[in-house]
Amino acid sequence: MPTDPVPELLSRATELLEEQFAALPAFDSAANPAAMARVLEGVARRLGDNYPYFHPLYAGQMLKPPHPLARAAYALAMTINPNNHARDGGRASSEMEIEAVREIAAIFGWADFLGHLNSSGTLANLEALWVAGQLAPARRIVGSEQAHYTHQRISAVLKLEYAPIAADRRGRMSMEALEDELRKGDVGTVVVTLGTTAIGAVDPLDEILALRSRYGFRVHVDAAYGGYFRLISEALDEPARRAFAVIGQADSIVIDPHKHGLQPYGCGCVLFRDPTVGRFYKHDSPYTYFTSRQLHLGEISLECSRAGASAVALWATQKLLPPVPGGEFALGLARGRAAAMELDRRLREDKSGRFQALAGGGPELDIVVWKAKAETPQQSSALAQKIFAACTLRDLHLALVELPLRWFQPVAGFESANGAGTVTCLRSVLMKPEHEAWLDAIWERLTAASAEVLETG
Ligand SMILES: *Cc1c(COP(=O)(O)O)cnc(C)c1O
Repeated sequence: MPTDPVPELLSRATELLEEQFAALPAFDSAANPAAMARVLEGVARRLGDNYPYFHPLYAGQMLKPPHPLARAAYALAMTINPNNHARDGGRASSEMEIEAVREIAAIFGWADFLGHLNSSGTLANLEALWVAGQLAPARRIVGSEQAHYTHQRISAVLKLEYAPIAADRRGRMSMEALEDELRKGDVGTVVVTLGTTAIGAVDPLDEILALRSRYGFRVHVDAAYGGYFRLISEALDEPARRAFAVIGQADSIVIDPHKHGLQPYGCGCVLFRDPTVGRFYKHDSPYTYFTSRQLHLGEISLECSRAGASAVALWATQKLLPPVPGGEFALGLARGRAAAMELDRRLREDKSGRFQALAGGGPELDIVVWKAKAETPQQSSALAQKIFAACTLRDLHLALVELPLRWFQPVAGFESANGAGTVTCLRSVLMKPEHEAWLDAIWERLTAASAEVLETG
């Protein structure tokens, strides 16, 4: 592991923070450092039972280590433990949330908007669909069958009817299938995913917006995972580039700073293009309010208590790495994507005939999926599991994903299956900038593990 800068950063900053409260009378703390140290040693031992998410050889699930500055700022904020429900709970951190969210909205070209942080993308999507339901209570919500599984569940919680729309072999929402639903005349909201969780597919937002002007519906963009790619959308391939270019025309957007934004978990974000939807949040809780007349974030959020520390960590990270096109943060996204493109190229060009990439083309963002070539889908799935396990023994951590068989070209002379059903595939989310430099090491381990699996059966 590289030297962790956090302890030193934190000790200097903690002194500075404590100085500001130095005029208060001293009091004794009940803490017992010796006992705490013993327990914390136990915690450290327990935490070793994890995949090494921080390491570039962890290239499996959608996990990106928080930036050291985010960790330090979060820990520093814990001295105060602010609650961004109301200014009474966190004056400074409420301001920092407003500023940080303004910077995120600017990614999408929004200056006059309503938005705030949430504890997760799921909660952020819940708020967006709740507002959609307030505006059109009797109308249906639709989203691609590749949309995040929580949309269906959220709709059920909100008592809104939800229907899945078929996806094409690239995992993008099918426009024919969507228009079939729209013709029924009762669709209130289309959930458009820019960056699906499974393979990073990008729904054709530009075409969906054209349908909006004909059929009239609300567009909610779930960019929990993919939202930051707006910063490098010029470098994406068509049609993803077109979709990201018009993201600012959505009615609401969800983006997760705890996915691609270098934040600890507990940091989602919902944005509404029309700030007047704030009226739906009105409530008259008698006990929380208020020692100031300024906006309290609890008045525009479904959640009550929220971690001010999340806002502090995000604010600090964005000060160091502003989320702007051409900045260091954006370049980091581009490097992960370059790693994904390169892995996909090697899988396609590999002469061993062990791998099979998606028939429709390479990654739209930075997620690569592939299957093991075999006579039957069952054999292919079993091989994927074995390769996954053999990679783990070489410290390379990939992930598995269940994908429709029809997304792959039938193997000539091999699989007779007609494309119905699913197959277990290998999946690698190359979301760390370091993945680009580590691609040779990843490839070496993957090919060695795969060769071993095929030799030993
Ligand atoms: C991760 C994800 C979510 C859910 O977000 P959480 O922060 O895990 O609750 C929703 N939609 C998409 C597209 C995602 O990738």
